[in-house]
Amino acid sequence: MSDLEYFGHVIGGVEVDSIDLARFESVNPWTQKAWAEIALGSGDDARAAVAAARTAFDDGPWPRLGYAVRQGLMHKLADAMEAQADELARADSRDMGKPLVQCHHDVSRAAMNFRFFADHAKMAMAETLPMDTGHHAYTRYEPAGVVVAIAPWNFPLMLETWKIAPALAWGNTVVLKPAEDTPSSATILARLAIEVGFPPGVLNVVHGYGPDSVGEALTRDPRVDRITFTGESGTGKVISRAAADNLTPVSLEMGGKNCNIVFADAALDNAVDWSIQSIFRNAGQICLSGSRLYVERPIFDTFLERFVAKAEAMRLGDPLDPATEFGPLASREHFEKVKGYVDTVAEVGGRMVTGGVGDGWFVKPTVLVDMPLDSPHVCEEIFGPVVVVHPFDTEAEVIALANDTAYGLDAQLFTENLHTAHRVAAKLAVGTVWVNCFFIRDLRAPFGGVGHSGVGREGGNFSREFFTEPKAIVMQIDAQPTT
Ligand code: NAD
Repeated sequence: MSDLEYFGHVIGGVEVDSIDLARFESVNPWTQKAWAEIALGSGDDARAAVAAARTAFDDGPWPRLGYAVRQGLMHKLADAMEAQADELARADSRDMGKPLVQCHHDVSRAAMNFRFFADHAKMAMAETLPMDTGHHAYTRYEPAGVVVAIAPWNFPLMLETWKIAPALAWGNTVVLKPAEDTPSSATILARLAIEVGFPPGVLNVVHGYGPDSVGEALTRDPRVDRITFTGESGTGKVISRAAADNLTPVSLEMGGKNCNIVFADAALDNAVDWSIQSIFRNAGQICLSGSRLYVERPIFDTFLERFVAKAEAMRLGDPLDPATEFGPLASREHFEKVKGYVDTVAEVGGRMVTGGVGDGWFVKPTVLVDMPLDSPHVCEEIFGPVVVVHPFDTEAEVIALANDTAYGLDAQLFTENLHTAHRVAAKLAVGTVWVNCFFIRDLRAPFGGVGHSGVGREGGNFSREFFTEPKAIVMQIDAQPTT
């Protein structure tokens, strides 16, 4: 008898095994041992989940309940999540090795996603356009239908709810496929949704892999009306192709090779602190991470010294220990990938100032200098705690360096000069610019990337556009002949 915890699919309001009873294990990256058993779905399980979501949308109450009732249920779910915060946070931490403190932060943000999008839908206004012809036009935002949400492993619950919450608030039903490395919190979430009274089939969770498995079956299913995906750019391309066969609209949030730009007039401690957060939080496994750090030459040495000292002071350890700031990488496979970059620094002509491979699946906070601009370390998304630091001399030079990438998710600017901040922010080809900070979000703002980092935007009204079918209704007011 296994002493592993078990997490099933949730389909049609019931937690179920896979049709063929297959299971897989979730390995805790700190202990490197399995801690949970998960239902391993196949295409058949995926299709059963879509069928449940389809029935719930076509015949169930959810799309017709109205904004206020959905808002009430979504707030109840947020309350339940906060009450179970420790269970949810520990699930993510065990699945991927993220420090528990950061997982608690993610749970709060996840609950906030439900609260924000429930309120946003309830409060949203729709345009009414008075026309000179004696008519008026107004807009109805009809739910799109069945939404498939495909999530990555680096912020499991937080990114899943970033998709589920607006989809549900606007009256859609959802099939969520969590990443195979971080399945457990999604099942807990779906259990809570059942407990607080969500109708069956409104929120379905199906576990499994991507290619030739659950992910592929979901993206090819003609009964699906929207696909929202977060993950690697390569996977985004595959999903776009699959969706194209059915002309299913897709929203893609993908990878990044983002930069921090520190001007000589920056408030130095602030710039160091945020730059540390932006590359070493979550062991660098953040799409938004500032993995290229450009520092204006007059302060380069001073900045580097303070930055390295802070990197070396980070507390590495057991993710479940509340004092831990920095955990192992999320899986053996990912550790091997990041290690590959660390092992080749000297080979490509660069220099490691601090860091390197640690015990277990740890890569320590790693700082690289003198890296050739065409090296993989500068050009590719490493998705680990590895930063390349370069000096720059002019604003034009650093803008060119920053934009010299296929990606375009975000950038951070550090300067005390208002004009520099606005001027440079306008010239960066990215979806978000943070000035003198990082990772601060307003959920009404557009979120997404340009180039290989994203297709479309989510957040506030941008989520409404994606998760609804806006309908124009043109109505005659006065019986005047039209001109
Ligand atoms: P991934 O692309 O390997 O997997 C993401 C999800 O897609 C998983 O659930 C996976 O099972 C599924 N998948 C894989 N192949 C599929 C297929 N053929 N069809 C359908 N589904 C498939 O990404 P990952 O390794 O889980 O996450 C890391 C990546 O995510 C990084 O590139 C990171 O930058 C990116 N990311 C982007 C954002 C953003 O908001 N832009 C946020 C977080 C992570």
